[in-house]
Amino acid sequence: MFHDKRIWCVQPTPSAEELARYLTEHTMCCCCGFELGGYLFLNDATSADGAQEYAVLRKQDTPDAPYVQIESITFGWCDFAKGLQYVRDILAGRYDTSEFVRPVRPQLQTSHEHGRCHFCA
Ligand SMILES: [Zn+2]
Repeated sequence: MFHDKRIWCVQPTPSAEELARYLTEHTMCCCCGFELGGYLFLNDATSADGAQEYAVLRKQDTPDAPYVQIESITFGWCDFAKGLQYVRDILAGRYDTSEFVRPVRPQLQTSHEHGRCHFCA
C-alpha cells in the first residue's frame, strides 16, 4: 500500500456485484474500504481525483501478521463486468498466491469509530 498513515473506514459489503459496483462506478473517499468474504479492498488512490486504485488484502489467522496484501488493482480503469470478474477471482482465491503477497498492517476502523477524517469531512 502506498499510504502507511492512512486510516481506512471499512464497511461490509453484501455481494460481489455490489462491491464491483462501488469499485468501478463510484469515486469513493480515500479513507474508504470494503470487506467481503475475508478480503479487504482498501482505497489506495493518491487523491480524490486520482484513478480509483484499491489494495486487496486477505485476512489471516496469525495474530502477528493479520493481513497480507495480495494485489493492487486500479478499478477506476475497469468497467463493471471487468471489476466483477476481478472480485470473483479474488474471492475464489486465485490471487492468494500471487508474487505480490506480503504482510501489511493497515489501520482500520468501523464507520462508528471513524466518524469524519480530512478525506471524508
Ligand atoms: Zn474519512
